[in-house]
Amino acid sequence: MTDAPLPTGLSGPPTDALIVGAGPAGLALAAELSARGLSVRVTDPAPHAPFPATYGAWWDDLPVWARDCAAHTWADVRVHTGPQPTPLLRPYTLLDNAALRAALLGRAGPGLTLTAARVDGAAVRMDGATRTAGGWTAWGTQAGTPARWEARVVIDASGHRPALLRHPDRHPDGAALQTAYGIVATFDRPPSAPGAAVWMDYRTPHGDPPTDRRGATFLYAMHLGGNRYFVEETSLIARPAPTRQDLQARLHARLRAQGTPPREIISDEWVSFPMNTAPPAAGVGSVLAFGAAAGLVHPISGFQVSGALRDAPAVADATARALRDGRDPVQAGWDALWPPERRAARAVHLLGVQALLNLPPRALPAFFAAFFALPPARWHAFLDPRTPPGPLARTMLRLFAHAPAHVRLPLARAALRHAGTSLHALNAAARS
Ligand SMILES: Cc1cc2nc3c(=O)[nH]c(=O)nc-3n(C[C@H](O)[C@H](O)[C@H](O)COP(=O)(O)OP(=O)(O)OC[C@H]3O[C@@H](n4cnc5c(N)ncnc54)[C@H](O)[C@@H]3O)c2cc1C
Repeated sequence: MTDAPLPTGLSGPPTDALIVGAGPAGLALAAELSARGLSVRVTDPAPHAPFPATYGAWWDDLPVWARDCAAHTWADVRVHTGPQPTPLLRPYTLLDNAALRAALLGRAGPGLTLTAARVDGAAVRMDGATRTAGGWTAWGTQAGTPARWEARVVIDASGHRPALLRHPDRHPDGAALQTAYGIVATFDRPPSAPGAAVWMDYRTPHGDPPTDRRGATFLYAMHLGGNRYFVEETSLIARPAPTRQDLQARLHARLRAQGTPPREIISDEWVSFPMNTAPPAAGVGSVLAFGAAAGLVHPISGFQVSGALRDAPAVADATARALRDGRDPVQAGWDALWPPERRAARAVHLLGVQALLNLPPRALPAFFAAFFALPPARWHAFLDPRTPPGPLARTMLRLFAHAPAHVRLPLARAALRHAGTSLHALNAAARS
């Protein structure tokens, strides 16, 4: 929050909603709200910039309209948790970010405005008894000068480090990060299976992984056609997590050891974001939030984009209805996004995070061998952010029962260390 004096004049006409952040989540919600006839301002220092990250998603997770935004979709999707590949038989899509952004803007209604500005603070204007009556004031910087806006609701979609949402216990026991280093490059010899997407390759041609957390990494790879590949050395979740230098060195050591060094590196990417985000406590959080800011990153896969595209219509419906009926749009939005059952499911997933963090690096391939040996419907549902807690807990029990002993022991320890959550999960499993 800044103490800079607010300018008296507004920097633009008041709107029904002001969204902070023009990433995929912010634009998805803005499109849905404006398509419902609301006036929506999206603020971002670079609102017209392309989405910078490489976005993948399971094809069947994407809303039907977003499937047209695929740069590539692979039917041949595999994991290596041992010497032989395991086919996943579930098409995987690399999104074309420009097409996705254009499709989102194409879905928007006439009331959408993109404003190049940074928002530093927002406060509710209490003209009357409730939060609804007075609406909100937001302030920040536009073209280097202090700016101020008014809106009936302010929504924080500013990413993994929310600009406005105050969420004290956002990462229980500290943030556990997904980190990865990747390159798009041309190769004389294929670094991964041609015509395929490799979701996880835990093989280590470059020597046994170091026994500390740095070492438990896998190759995530996609054939982009011809001799072009995207290859990324990935640490799914760790605390502390491997650094960019660690992963860059491991990626190149892996490629060298395979005899597939890159011929020409076209671009590179550093990935670092928290995986273990607890849902904001209901009522806490003066603003509504959406996307990564609202904790939508799936704690096991790290995926968020397809989930945000699917969640946006329901959150827009609830917020628009509340604005129309004079009810609190912030509470209505949170209730639509994080109903009690989804909060309970997140608690089960966070228990899963503790289990993963508790596994010795060398047990991870065996853990994922057991995970992908589950019936497809079960692991699909486990990676779906909307699966209720009961089926999640039952899948964890089934995975535990089928995992080898050297995986089960650390899993049991993690469950005992978090006995309260484990009991809730067991109850949920028993009830469903
Ligand atoms: C490199 C990388 C790769 C990833 N790959 C995948 C993937 O394959 N699949 C997947 O589902 N997820 C992936 N994720 C995770 C997650 O989906 C992304 O981080 C995604 O970009 C989050 O979307 P978002 O719209 O919530 O936030 P961002 O995309 O982070 O957008 C937030 C926007 O808010 C703006 N902003 C920030 N502060 C302010 C402020 N004060 N005022 C105004 N604007 C502000 C920023 O400029 C930014 O444009 C990846 C993440 C990273 C970092």
